[in-house]
Amino acid sequence: MTLPIDTIETFTVRLPTRTDFRWNGLERPLGEVFVVRVGSGTLVGYGETVPLPDWGGPSGAPFGETPSIDELVIHELVAPQVLGQDAERLGPLLARAASGVIGYPYALGALDVALHDLLARSRGIPVYELLGGLRRSAIPIAHMIGLMATDAAEREAAQALEEGCRAFQIKGGQDVERDVDLVARLRALAGPGVSLRLDANCGYGPWKRGLDAVRRLTDAGVDLVEQPASTVDGLRRITERSSVTIVADELCWSPADALALAADRSADALSVYVAKAGGLAPAAAITRIAAAAGMSHDLNGSLEAGIGNAASLHVAAASGAELLPCVVPINGPAHDLPSAIFGRYFTDDVVASAFELVDGAVVLGDEPGLGIDVDEEKLERLAVAHRTTRAEARDLEVNL
Ligand SMILES: [Mg+2]
Repeated sequence: MTLPIDTIETFTVRLPTRTDFRWNGLERPLGEVFVVRVGSGTLVGYGETVPLPDWGGPSGAPFGETPSIDELVIHELVAPQVLGQDAERLGPLLARAASGVIGYPYALGALDVALHDLLARSRGIPVYELLGGLRRSAIPIAHMIGLMATDAAEREAAQALEEGCRAFQIKGGQDVERDVDLVARLRALAGPGVSLRLDANCGYGPWKRGLDAVRRLTDAGVDLVEQPASTVDGLRRITERSSVTIVADELCWSPADALALAADRSADALSVYVAKAGGLAPAAAITRIAAAAGMSHDLNGSLEAGIGNAASLHVAAASGAELLPCVVPINGPAHDLPSAIFGRYFTDDVVASAFELVDGAVVLGDEPGLGIDVDEEKLERLAVAHRTTRAEARDLEVNL
């Protein structure tokens, strides 16, 4: 059986947000996501990423993307490589897609997820089976506390705790005094069993200032600090001198980045995004590097809608490494909200039903593909851009 790709569609979708989420370096409001739908006959597969123009590696090598840039990349450069090709031969097809353009992991990542979803659906298996099989079905979730006033952060954390949250990622990096104070307050509020991570987003400046911040945060009760320095060298020096777990995010995009960080032990843990890596296959490769190096990792992102979130959860489910609480949303449509605050960044979603939340973790089932149903009417209603490229009849004839 073959699975020739006859259609590639892209959608730019705007989701309504619960509040205005901010972190150090983020200049635009969140809620705009990039969706790819691939078709083969009556079957479709979905993928999604959140391209951000103000997000990239400190070196400038990984650079910002936007939905409109990625729409152009997919239809003008990548579609000619993919249309008419057989998704049953997924590895060669992904390599062929990537040959259409250098870079643009968020564009290629959305397509990669859609092709995995299509293939898994056609075989009647979950996507995690394509990534090595199920290692865990319950994925612990960390709630993200954005850059906000301390009182508001405490109120939000208290409500998330009531809803079963057992881990927080606190955005900081702009003001060490505020970060230390907030960590101490949340530790007092949450007690000893709750995981507290401070994400500095490279904001502490030179590594010695980052080290000083990590030591003060440690005394305040933090468990993990993410990107307290912006360079590999700075991160390594802090990791060597810290008792808490140091996490690499901005410095960990590709499997090659992960390998370098692991080789020099420049961090204790890796923050893995499907989009930074450019798809499910390279993201899963990073989890294998973490496992081989004895490092832990999370699955993280930029507040994806339900499609992108499902992709992250499938990578987490198939990982053999130690898994940290994942900073991913708990998505659901407006009429089916599993939580009011915990993991809830949007008031609606394109998935037809909510993810299952049990004891602070999202639980994956064994439905085919990404295990979600996309509400196609809502997808089209919330889309602010939609473009379709179809295979020419001759493409399909050549490759069938
Ligand atoms: Mg981060």
